[in-house]
Amino acid sequence: MLKIGSHVSMNGVEMLVGSVKEALSYGSNCFMIYTGAPQNTRRKPLEALQIEEAKQLMLENNLKLEDVVVHAPYIMNLANHDPKKRQFAVDFLSSEIKRTATIGAKQIVLHPGAHVKQGPEIGITHIIEGLDKVIENTKDLNVLIALETMAGKGTEIGRNFEELSLIINGVKNNKRLSVCFDTCHTHDAGYKIKEGFDAVMAEFDKIIGKERISVFHINDSKNIQGAKKDRHENIGFGFIGFESLNYIVNHPDFTEIPKILETPYVSETTDSKDKTYPPYKEEIIMFRKKEFNKNILQEIRSK
Ligand code: FE
Ligand code: FE
Ligand code: ZN
Repeated sequence: MLKIGSHVSMNGVEMLVGSVKEALSYGSNCFMIYTGAPQNTRRKPLEALQIEEAKQLMLENNLKLEDVVVHAPYIMNLANHDPKKRQFAVDFLSSEIKRTATIGAKQIVLHPGAHVKQGPEIGITHIIEGLDKVIENTKDLNVLIALETMAGKGTEIGRNFEELSLIINGVKNNKRLSVCFDTCHTHDAGYKIKEGFDAVMAEFDKIIGKERISVFHINDSKNIQGAKKDRHENIGFGFIGFESLNYIVNHPDFTEIPKILETPYVSETTDSKDKTYPPYKEEIIMFRKKEFNKNILQEIRSK
């Protein structure tokens, strides 16, 4: 069965139990969480996460722990020019991997880093050094680090398959490195996933190996191919379109791989940002039916 879900929040009193409930309310059979706010590094103690209760609820609803994906916060940058900040990123990522393992999840998605002004070569060298340390720090843990394909905004590293391959091949013990394939990002980076996903995959397979893909982020894009912008759009309303995204989501080569929606919440009216609704339940239905519903945004607004 199609494995699809969305990112969900983890907060309040219910923590991970709340995340599971939210995922179930969308009809998901996988989901993605941040172990805390993605913009900061403050974390609640592990006891507060309600892990045991969440596991029980997942068990009752046929949700598997191996289909839970964690996302590392985006403020840490393994490519930082400042060695102190790099060390901080190494320590924090190591501790996030420990949290991921405690939850029982099998992978953590990581934005490789941004080189700022040093150029990608030096940035990649820093990332490799950092990942070597992180993997050593967490060597007993069975958690994959899924390097995300990036849009190429600013000085992001991972904007093409070659850069990810350089990182993977540069890391000494790279068995725990995998890839998170983001459809909006690869499209924005210039890959023709709209016209020819299989050709893009053939290229990916040659450069990295498609067995490295451990999760997909499924997003439409507000911008044209190659725009290097990274602005996600609701499924079927962007420059990739439903047909191409549906082809990827239902692709027979990736049945067992979780597909995670990170599409934007829908505002009550087209011009207000006051009240917003998650689109995930409806977007998941479209992919399960393999059928685009052009009225989906109005239907979400009028709920
Ligand atoms: Fe991401
Ligand atoms: Fe993503
Ligand atoms: Zn993005």
